[in-house]
Amino acid sequence: MTLYLKNALFIDWQSLAVKQANIAVEQSQDKEISFVPAVPSSGDLASDDRVLDCTGKLVTKSFGCGHHHIYSTLARGMPAPRKIPANFTQILEYIWWHIDKRLDLEMIEASALASAIFCAKNGVTFVIDHHASPFAVKGSLDVIAKAFKRVGIGSMLCYELSDRDGAESVEQALAETDTFLGSGNQGHVGLHASFTVGEQLLRRAVELAQKHNTGVHVHVAEDLADQKITQEKYGKSVVQRYHDAGVLKLDKSIFAHCVHLSDTEKELLRQSGVWLAQNVESNQNNNVGIAGYNSFASNVMLGTDGMHSDMLRSAKAAFLSGQASEAIGFDGIYQRFRNVHHYLNACGAHGDGDNNLVVLDYDSPTEVTSDNFLGHFVFGIDTRHVQSVICQGNLIVKDRQVTTVDEKQVLAYSKKMGQKLWDKL
Ligand SMILES: [Zn+2]
Repeated sequence: MTLYLKNALFIDWQSLAVKQANIAVEQSQDKEISFVPAVPSSGDLASDDRVLDCTGKLVTKSFGCGHHHIYSTLARGMPAPRKIPANFTQILEYIWWHIDKRLDLEMIEASALASAIFCAKNGVTFVIDHHASPFAVKGSLDVIAKAFKRVGIGSMLCYELSDRDGAESVEQALAETDTFLGSGNQGHVGLHASFTVGEQLLRRAVELAQKHNTGVHVHVAEDLADQKITQEKYGKSVVQRYHDAGVLKLDKSIFAHCVHLSDTEKELLRQSGVWLAQNVESNQNNNVGIAGYNSFASNVMLGTDGMHSDMLRSAKAAFLSGQASEAIGFDGIYQRFRNVHHYLNACGAHGDGDNNLVVLDYDSPTEVTSDNFLGHFVFGIDTRHVQSVICQGNLIVKDRQVTTVDEKQVLAYSKKMGQKLWDKL
């Protein structure tokens, strides 16, 4: 099957070259796209070929999310916590750890399906997720992977290992990770954060990552509390601790946040091959501080930290907050927005190939050219322009409707699961 995008204004995501083109998109993982002089006439099309008229539309590579939490989906609109948190660790305790302990596999499935729909409709075709459900560990990653697959987007998943819920939960989480990665799924060994991960668990996590040739996906110095407690317990800084444990040698590792780092820690990170994931809206929401990431430019990608599934929004937020913290430019924020593809490529991950595309119905008041595209990216293009989305050659969103699952049915299910969760809070 070939999907033809007819008469599109195509923007090469790397060179930013703009050209009028007819694009032939093949179905299947990691296929390249090709440009054809003309779309075959209806008599010459194979019976399963399809043509999408893209006259007046922009077409470019779709987007990826470097750090998500689908487990937080059902929190939207939930009742206020019984105690109002006064700091970051209380936010975890009164809100997120209160929620994740009450998740079951049905709620996880609803969360993953709804999040995957939001991602798809926002043009996000690959998600790197970090999951926690301490009392529904077994099978949780498989449920999420299947949900993403049903909607038709790619993923790398992990389960958040932590000593916060006791030994039994740790053993289940290690087993879940081992089983999931051992079955050929793409993912990481997840860790919550240094301050809830003991020495033995850290050692076992590194061994597991080595066994499966992957990295560790962990929250790093999101709040000063991570540094303070790590210093008190282990006599060293967070990044030094990961360095000493061998995490920095695992190039596929993702360090989310990195808000509170010393110059020594920054240098350790620069010398390593690990990647950072910036989540500025979450940092603002939790009032943990705002960092600058310019000195890591080629190894920083953007995430949402589960706040939403809209990477264009994440890029705009990072651009605006970056004016004060690091004087970031148009090219800098675009590079950060697109680095997720370089990360996935470096990992050898599947599902983020050239045949992942977004069709934008972009009602611009001015011309779009190769020279000014970044200005349109920062100030113009947003998710209301996402009209159709192609992932691995499949048209998963057409005219703003998901084609792969029944959206109304999924949202009815997630509302039911949301109520079930809230009744337990
Ligand atoms: Zn996170």
